[in-house]
Amino acid sequence: MALRKKRTAPRPADTPWAVELNGVRRSYGKRSAEVHALRGIDLALPHGSFTAVMGPSGSGKSTFLQCAAGLDRPTAGTVRLAGTDITALDENRLTELRRARLGFVFQSFNLLPSLTVEQNVLLPLRLGGRRPDRARARDVLGRVGLGDKGHRRPTELSGGQQQRVAVARALVTRPDVIFADEPTGALDTTTATEILSLLRTAVDRLGATVVMVTHDPSAAAWADRVLFLADGAITDELSGASAQRIGTRLTDLISHHRRLAGVAA
Ligand code: ADP
Repeated sequence: MALRKKRTAPRPADTPWAVELNGVRRSYGKRSAEVHALRGIDLALPHGSFTAVMGPSGSGKSTFLQCAAGLDRPTAGTVRLAGTDITALDENRLTELRRARLGFVFQSFNLLPSLTVEQNVLLPLRLGGRRPDRARARDVLGRVGLGDKGHRRPTELSGGQQQRVAVARALVTRPDVIFADEPTGALDTTTATEILSLLRTAVDRLGATVVMVTHDPSAAAWADRVLFLADGAITDELSGASAQRIGTRLTDLISHHRRLAGVAA
Protein backbone atom coordinates (compact mmCIF):
# COMPACT_ATOMS: atom_id res chain seq x y z
CA MET A 1 0.00 0.00 0.00
CA ALA A 2 1.38 3.36 -0.99
CA LEU A 3 1.74 5.73 1.92
CA ARG A 4 0.45 9.19 1.16
CA LYS A 5 3.03 11.82 1.94
CA LYS A 6 1.91 14.15 4.70
CA ARG A 7 1.36 17.69 3.46
CA THR A 8 3.28 19.86 5.89
CA ALA A 9 4.97 23.21 5.32
CA PRO A 10 8.65 22.51 4.67
CA ARG A 11 11.02 23.63 7.39
CA PRO A 12 14.14 25.63 6.52
CA ALA A 13 16.35 22.55 6.88
CA ASP A 14 14.35 20.78 4.16
CA THR A 15 15.47 23.07 1.38
CA PRO A 16 18.88 24.24 0.21
CA TRP A 17 17.26 27.42 -1.13
CA ALA A 18 17.06 30.62 0.86
CA VAL A 19 15.05 32.31 -1.91
CA GLU A 20 12.93 30.66 -4.60
CA LEU A 21 10.80 32.47 -7.15
CA ASN A 22 8.59 30.52 -9.52
CA GLY A 23 6.74 32.22 -12.37
CA VAL A 24 6.65 35.54 -10.51
CA ARG A 25 4.76 38.23 -12.37
CA ARG A 26 3.82 41.71 -11.20
CA SER A 27 1.64 44.02 -13.24
CA TYR A 28 0.37 47.48 -12.44
CA GLY A 29 -2.75 49.10 -13.86
CA LYS A 30 -5.41 47.61 -16.10
CA ARG A 31 -5.97 46.80 -19.79
CA SER A 32 -4.28 49.24 -22.16
CA ALA A 33 -2.55 50.99 -19.23
CA GLU A 34 -1.16 47.71 -17.85
CA VAL A 35 2.58 47.76 -17.05
CA HIS A 36 4.35 44.41 -16.71
CA ALA A 37 7.04 45.16 -14.15
CA LEU A 38 7.97 41.46 -13.77
CA ARG A 39 7.17 39.06 -16.59
CA GLY A 40 7.81 35.64 -15.03
CA ILE A 41 10.87 35.32 -12.80
CA ASP A 42 12.21 31.86 -11.94
CA LEU A 43 15.23 31.58 -9.71
CA ALA A 44 16.65 29.77 -6.71
CA LEU A 45 19.36 31.24 -4.48
CA PRO A 46 21.17 28.94 -2.04
CA HIS A 47 21.71 29.66 1.66
CA GLY A 48 25.04 31.40 2.23
CA SER A 49 25.12 33.14 -1.16
CA PHE A 50 25.57 36.79 -2.15
CA THR A 51 23.56 37.83 -5.22
CA ALA A 52 23.51 41.21 -6.94
CA VAL A 53 20.64 42.34 -9.15
CA MET A 54 21.34 44.91 -11.85
CA GLY A 55 19.54 46.35 -14.85
CA PRO A 56 18.54 49.54 -16.64
CA SER A 57 16.21 51.99 -14.91
CA GLY A 58 12.63 50.67 -15.08
CA SER A 59 13.76 47.04 -15.64
CA GLY A 60 11.95 45.85 -12.50
CA LYS A 61 14.74 45.75 -9.87
CA SER A 62 12.72 47.45 -7.11
CA THR A 63 9.62 45.41 -7.91
CA PHE A 64 11.72 42.24 -7.80
CA LEU A 65 13.18 43.14 -4.39
CA GLN A 66 9.77 44.15 -3.00
CA CYS A 67 8.14 40.89 -4.16
CA ALA A 68 11.05 38.69 -3.02
CA ALA A 69 11.07 40.35 0.42
CA GLY A 70 7.31 40.15 0.97
CA LEU A 71 6.84 43.93 0.83
CA ASP A 72 4.66 43.59 -2.28
CA ARG A 73 2.56 40.73 -3.60
CA PRO A 74 3.14 39.24 -7.06
CA THR A 75 0.20 39.21 -9.47
CA ALA A 76 1.06 35.54 -10.18
CA GLY A 77 3.63 32.96 -9.11
CA THR A 78 5.14 31.98 -5.78
CA VAL A 79 7.95 33.26 -3.57
CA ARG A 80 9.48 30.87 -1.05
CA LEU A 81 11.85 32.04 1.66
CA ALA A 82 13.76 29.18 3.32
CA GLY A 83 10.97 26.85 2.25
CA THR A 84 8.01 28.98 3.36
CA ASP A 85 5.62 30.08 0.60
CA ILE A 86 5.20 33.73 1.59
CA THR A 87 2.66 34.38 -1.16
CA ALA A 88 0.25 32.15 0.79
CA LEU A 89 0.56 34.12 4.07
CA ASP A 90 -1.94 36.71 5.28
CA GLU A 91 -0.70 40.23 6.12
CA ASN A 92 -0.11 39.52 9.83
CA ARG A 93 1.88 36.33 9.26
CA LEU A 94 3.85 38.06 6.52
CA THR A 95 4.75 40.96 8.84
CA GLU A 96 5.82 38.45 11.51
CA LEU A 97 7.95 36.55 9.01
CA ARG A 98 9.62 39.76 7.75
CA ARG A 99 10.47 40.78 11.32
CA ALA A 100 11.71 37.39 12.46
CA ARG A 101 13.39 35.99 9.36
CA LEU A 102 14.44 38.86 7.08
CA GLY A 103 16.93 41.69 7.38
CA PHE A 104 16.82 44.93 5.41
CA VAL A 105 19.48 47.48 4.48
CA PHE A 106 18.33 50.57 2.57
CA GLN A 107 20.19 53.35 0.77
CA SER A 108 18.92 55.89 3.32
CA PHE A 109 19.87 53.80 6.43
CA ASN A 110 16.33 54.14 7.93
CA LEU A 111 17.48 54.36 11.54
CA LEU A 112 15.25 55.88 14.21
CA PRO A 113 16.93 59.13 15.36
CA SER A 114 15.31 59.13 18.81
CA LEU A 115 16.78 55.73 19.73
CA THR A 116 20.39 54.95 20.60
CA VAL A 117 22.48 52.83 18.23
CA GLU A 118 22.00 49.78 20.47
CA GLN A 119 18.23 50.35 20.68
CA ASN A 120 18.07 50.59 16.88
CA VAL A 121 19.88 47.27 16.60
CA LEU A 122 17.54 45.69 19.15
CA LEU A 123 14.42 46.97 17.39
CA PRO A 124 13.77 43.91 15.16
CA LEU A 125 13.87 41.69 18.29
CA ARG A 126 11.50 44.00 20.20
CA LEU A 127 9.08 44.27 17.27
CA GLY A 128 9.14 40.49 16.93
CA GLY A 129 8.22 40.10 20.62
CA ARG A 130 11.59 38.54 21.37
CA ARG A 131 13.88 39.18 24.31
CA PRO A 132 15.96 42.30 23.62
CA ASP A 133 19.25 40.43 23.93
CA ARG A 134 21.74 43.22 24.67
CA ALA A 135 24.73 40.87 24.59
CA ARG A 136 23.70 39.88 21.06
CA ALA A 137 23.35 43.56 20.05
CA ARG A 138 26.82 44.30 21.43
CA ASP A 139 28.21 41.28 19.60
CA VAL A 140 26.86 42.38 16.19
CA LEU A 141 27.90 45.99 16.82
CA GLY A 142 31.40 44.66 17.55
CA ARG A 143 31.34 42.72 14.29
CA VAL A 144 30.60 45.89 12.31
CA GLY A 145 33.32 47.81 14.18
CA LEU A 146 31.01 49.91 16.37
CA GLY A 147 31.45 48.12 19.68
CA ASP A 148 32.03 51.46 21.44
CA LYS A 149 29.14 53.39 19.84
CA GLY A 150 26.09 51.63 21.32
CA HIS A 151 25.02 54.63 23.42
CA ARG A 152 25.35 57.21 20.67
CA ARG A 153 22.44 58.53 18.61
CA PRO A 154 22.52 57.83 14.85
CA THR A 155 22.84 61.57 14.07
CA GLU A 156 26.15 61.63 15.97
CA LEU A 157 27.62 59.12 13.50
CA SER A 158 28.94 59.46 9.94
CA GLY A 159 26.93 58.09 7.01
CA GLY A 160 29.18 55.04 6.77
CA GLN A 161 28.82 54.37 10.51
CA GLN A 162 25.02 54.72 10.25
CA GLN A 163 24.97 52.14 7.48
CA ARG A 164 27.09 49.84 9.68
CA VAL A 165 24.37 50.16 12.34
CA ALA A 166 21.81 49.21 9.69
CA VAL A 167 23.89 46.12 8.82
CA ALA A 168 24.10 45.21 12.53
CA ARG A 169 20.31 45.64 12.80
CA ALA A 170 19.86 43.37 9.76
CA LEU A 171 22.11 40.70 11.30
CA VAL A 172 20.74 40.72 14.85
CA THR A 173 17.91 38.22 14.23
CA ARG A 174 20.21 35.85 12.26
CA PRO A 175 17.78 36.20 9.33
CA ASP A 176 17.28 33.70 6.51
CA VAL A 177 17.89 36.48 3.97
CA ILE A 178 19.19 40.07 4.03
CA PHE A 179 17.70 42.27 1.31
CA ALA A 180 19.81 45.31 0.47
CA ASP A 181 18.48 48.08 -1.78
CA GLU A 182 21.35 50.23 -3.13
CA PRO A 183 23.10 49.96 0.29
CA THR A 184 26.09 52.01 -0.89
CA GLY A 185 24.14 54.55 -2.97
CA ALA A 186 24.62 57.36 -0.44
CA LEU A 187 28.25 56.59 0.48
CA ASP A 188 31.67 57.57 -0.86
CA THR A 189 33.83 54.89 -2.46
CA THR A 190 35.94 54.07 0.61
CA THR A 191 32.94 53.83 2.93
CA ALA A 192 31.00 51.84 0.33
CA THR A 193 33.84 49.31 0.23
CA GLU A 194 33.67 48.94 4.02
CA ILE A 195 29.93 48.19 3.89
CA LEU A 196 30.32 45.68 1.02
CA SER A 197 33.16 44.00 2.86
CA LEU A 198 30.89 43.67 5.92
CA LEU A 199 28.14 42.06 3.84
CA ARG A 200 30.69 39.73 2.22
CA THR A 201 32.01 38.73 5.66
CA ALA A 202 28.47 38.10 6.91
CA VAL A 203 28.01 35.66 4.02
CA ASP A 204 31.41 33.97 4.36
CA ARG A 205 31.69 33.78 8.16
CA LEU A 206 28.09 33.81 9.43
CA GLY A 207 26.48 31.94 6.53
CA ALA A 208 24.15 34.88 5.80
CA THR A 209 22.33 35.12 2.47
CA VAL A 210 22.37 38.53 0.80
CA VAL A 211 20.32 39.78 -2.17
CA MET A 212 21.40 43.27 -3.20
CA VAL A 213 20.05 45.62 -5.85
CA THR A 214 22.73 47.97 -7.13
CA HIS A 215 23.54 50.08 -10.18
CA ASP A 216 27.25 50.05 -9.34
CA PRO A 217 29.42 47.34 -11.01
CA SER A 218 32.11 47.69 -8.30
CA ALA A 219 29.48 46.91 -5.65
CA ALA A 220 28.10 43.98 -7.68
CA ALA A 221 31.61 42.51 -8.00
CA TRP A 222 31.48 41.65 -4.27
CA ALA A 223 28.63 39.22 -4.99
CA ASP A 224 29.03 35.58 -6.03
CA ARG A 225 26.53 36.00 -8.82
CA VAL A 226 25.06 38.95 -10.71
CA LEU A 227 21.59 38.70 -12.25
CA PHE A 228 20.70 41.16 -15.01
CA LEU A 229 17.10 42.26 -15.37
CA ALA A 230 15.73 43.83 -18.55
CA ASP A 231 12.10 44.66 -19.16
CA GLY A 232 10.90 42.54 -16.22
CA ALA A 233 12.85 39.37 -17.03
CA ILE A 234 16.25 37.93 -16.09
CA THR A 235 18.12 38.10 -19.36
CA ASP A 236 21.67 37.34 -18.31
CA GLU A 237 23.92 36.46 -15.38
CA LEU A 238 27.59 36.40 -14.40
CA SER A 239 29.37 34.49 -11.64
CA GLY A 240 32.59 35.57 -9.94
CA ALA A 241 33.05 38.42 -12.42
CA SER A 242 35.21 41.53 -12.08
CA ALA A 243 33.70 45.02 -11.83
CA GLN A 244 34.98 45.71 -15.33
CA ARG A 245 33.28 42.68 -16.85
CA ILE A 246 30.05 43.44 -15.00
CA GLY A 247 30.22 47.09 -16.13
CA THR A 248 30.70 46.10 -19.79
CA ARG A 249 27.78 43.66 -19.62
CA LEU A 250 25.55 46.31 -18.02
CA THR A 251 26.50 48.94 -20.61
CA ASP A 252 25.74 46.46 -23.41
CA LEU A 253 22.39 45.68 -21.82
CA ILE A 254 21.50 49.37 -21.46
CA SER A 255 22.44 50.22 -25.06
CA HIS A 256 20.52 47.17 -26.34
CA HIS A 257 17.53 48.31 -24.28
CA ARG A 258 17.82 51.88 -25.68
CA ARG A 259 18.04 50.58 -29.25
CA LEU A 260 14.87 48.52 -28.70
CA ALA A 261 13.11 51.51 -27.12
CA GLY A 262 14.24 53.64 -30.11
CA VAL A 263 12.80 51.11 -32.56
CA ALA A 264 9.52 50.98 -30.64
CA ALA A 265 9.21 54.79 -30.46
P1 ADP B 1 13.70 49.68 -11.48
O1 ADP B 1 13.79 49.50 -9.99
O2 ADP B 1 14.56 48.73 -12.24
O3 ADP B 1 13.94 51.10 -11.90
P2 ADP B 1 10.84 49.31 -11.07
O4 ADP B 1 10.67 47.98 -10.43
O5 ADP B 1 10.78 50.52 -10.18
O6 ADP B 1 12.21 49.31 -11.93
O7 ADP B 1 9.74 49.50 -12.21
C1 ADP B 1 9.50 48.55 -13.24
C2 ADP B 1 8.36 49.04 -14.10
O8 ADP B 1 7.14 49.06 -13.35
C3 ADP B 1 8.54 50.46 -14.62
O9 ADP B 1 7.97 50.54 -15.91
C4 ADP B 1 7.75 51.29 -13.63
O10 ADP B 1 7.29 52.49 -14.24
C5 ADP B 1 6.60 50.35 -13.29
N1 ADP B 1 6.08 50.58 -11.92
C6 ADP B 1 6.75 50.38 -10.78
N2 ADP B 1 5.97 50.65 -9.72
C7 ADP B 1 4.76 51.05 -10.22
C8 ADP B 1 3.50 51.46 -9.64
N3 ADP B 1 3.35 51.52 -8.31
N4 ADP B 1 2.52 51.77 -10.48
C9 ADP B 1 2.65 51.70 -11.82
N5 ADP B 1 3.79 51.30 -12.43
C10 ADP B 1 4.83 50.99 -11.64
